[in-house]
Amino acid sequence: MRTTLVAGNWKMNGTRATAVELVAGVVAGLNSGASADVAICPPFTLLDTVRQAIGESDIALGAQDLARQENGAFTGEVSGEMLTDGGCYFVIVGHSERRALFGEDNEVVAEKFVRAQAAGLVPILCVGEQLEDREGGITEEVVGAQLDAVINAAGASAFAGAVIAYEPVWAIGTGLTATPEQAQDVHAFIRARLAASDANVANTIRILYGGSVKPDNAAALFGEADIDGGLIGGAALKAEDFLGICAAAS
Ligand code: PEP
Repeated sequence: MRTTLVAGNWKMNGTRATAVELVAGVVAGLNSGASADVAICPPFTLLDTVRQAIGESDIALGAQDLARQENGAFTGEVSGEMLTDGGCYFVIVGHSERRALFGEDNEVVAEKFVRAQAAGLVPILCVGEQLEDREGGITEEVVGAQLDAVINAAGASAFAGAVIAYEPVWAIGTGLTATPEQAQDVHAFIRARLAASDANVANTIRILYGGSVKPDNAAALFGEADIDGGLIGGAALKAEDFLGICAAAS
C-alpha cells in the first residue's frame, strides 16, 4: 500500500507574513486530522521561513526547482546541495511552467533529476501533455518520452527514490480537471512503462495527479487505483482548501 502524498506548490507567491499565516493554518488543521504525507514547496526566499513555521510537525519542505549544475559561476541559480542544506526533502523537477516558459527540455529535466538525487533530495518529476497532444492522440507518446529521458539518464531503479506527478498542462491553473478516468489511464500507463524496466519500483512509486485539484474533486481522483495523491497549485494557497484536499487523501 502506497502512502498518499499531497504536495503544495506555491509557485511565485507569498511573503514572509503570508507564509507564516498559511503554514500555521495548515499545521493546526493537520494536527486535528489528516494522515496523508504532506509537503509544502514555497519559493526559494521563503524556504527558511516555512521550515521554521513547520516546526516539529510532519510536514516536509520542498523546493520548486534546482540548478542542473553542481556549483560555481551560475548567477541566479540554486543548487541541490543548497536546498538540502536549507532543510529541503523534496524538489519539483520539470514542472510544465519550467518546460514551457524557461525552455527546459527532457534532457535538462533528466539532468536536474540526477542532480537532485545526487544532493540527497527526492525529486517530484512532473510529466504531462499539452491540449493539442491529447487532441492529437499522442498523450502516451509525449509522457512516455518525458519518462524515458529520465530512465535513460538515471535508470529505472532511480525511481525507487522518487515521486512522479502527472500534470496535464491543459488542466494546470485553468479550472479544467482531468476526469478521474482520464487521469487513471495515464497513471496506469506511467506505472506500466516503469514496470517494463523494474516491476518493484513500478508497484511502490507514488504517482501524484496535478491540475486544478480542489477539495470537491480530490476524493474522486485519489480514489483511483494508480493515483497516490496530488501536486496542488492554486488550492495550496488557502489553508482551508489545502486541508480539504489533505483530508480527501487520508
Ligand atoms: C501546479 O502548479 O502544479 C498545479 C497543479 O496547479 P493548479 O493546482 O493550480 O492547477
